Amino acid sequence: MMDLYDLHTHTTASDGSLSPTELVTHACECGTEVLAVTDHDITDGLSEAIAAANDAQLTFVPGIEVSVTWAHQTIHVVGLHIDPDNAELQTGIQKLQEYRNWRAEEISRKLEKAGIPGALDAAKRISKGKILSRTHFAHFLVEQGHAPSMKQVFKKFLVRNKPGYVSGDWAELEDAVGWIRAAGGLAVIAHPARYQLSANKMRQMLAAFRDCGGVGIEVVSGSHGASDIQRFTHVAEYFGLYASRGSDYHGKETSYADPRRLPALPDGCRPVWTHSDWYAAS
Ligand code: AMP
Ligand code: MN
Ligand code: MN
Ligand code: MN
Repeated sequence: MMDLYDLHTHTTASDGSLSPTELVTHACECGTEVLAVTDHDITDGLSEAIAAANDAQLTFVPGIEVSVTWAHQTIHVVGLHIDPDNAELQTGIQKLQEYRNWRAEEISRKLEKAGIPGALDAAKRISKGKILSRTHFAHFLVEQGHAPSMKQVFKKFLVRNKPGYVSGDWAELEDAVGWIRAAGGLAVIAHPARYQLSANKMRQMLAAFRDCGGVGIEVVSGSHGASDIQRFTHVAEYFGLYASRGSDYHGKETSYADPRRLPALPDGCRPVWTHSDWYAAS
């Protein structure tokens, strides 16, 4: 049943707050039947999640969410059914992990200039030595009382033109899709409604994505409202893309949506789990 798929979630391997085992348990409690873990630019949580899913009543899909810079915008590309041991994928994301470490130092320097010292050490403490994300800086800034909520802390410090912002320099779109395909995965555009792209740029981006082998787009996402779902149902159809559905769950206190409350894919969408490569991989 299509309601029971959640193909976009995070763990403590990136910026989620549940460990892979806790996430699998939580997803089971929510009634999720097919779960993908898609941490940012890293696959370190997958082996623990696979082991946890083996003990649970759940079909597991190994995934990733790769950070891309396209036309000066950050775009996220989810890879589903990837082989985490693929060398091409690992070499690619290694560069993104190094960039994350460098960027974290820059963010910390900028915050220090703005009168907030100690951010790098705090972010490392909060991330427990895994990948460093803006989310970890956001937790620190909320902890220190610089803003009342995650949403507000991003707005005040961590987005363009704000004191702790460093512009992204992520992977090329073609490279990210290439790594995912090399690892046997299906590439899916994450939460398209979140990008600040004109209709024309969105069209160019999706055409480029499809031309380099991308196959899907998240129609239902934790960050999509009803009108976004409607819009991207049509966009998916126009570009011949398969539709995906994912909560983008980050943990109990920061999640955008509970996997149980996510809407179903609208009729007329071709679910990504009906793609022939999905069958081949599962
Ligand atoms: P990064 O990839 O390190 O730049 O961090 C991006 C992450 O920050 C996203 O994956 C979200 O988890 C989180 N994020 C971005 N914007 C917001 C927001 N407005 N409120 C809460 N979390 C956000
Ligand atoms: Mn995140
Ligand atoms: Mn994302
Ligand atoms: Mn995500």
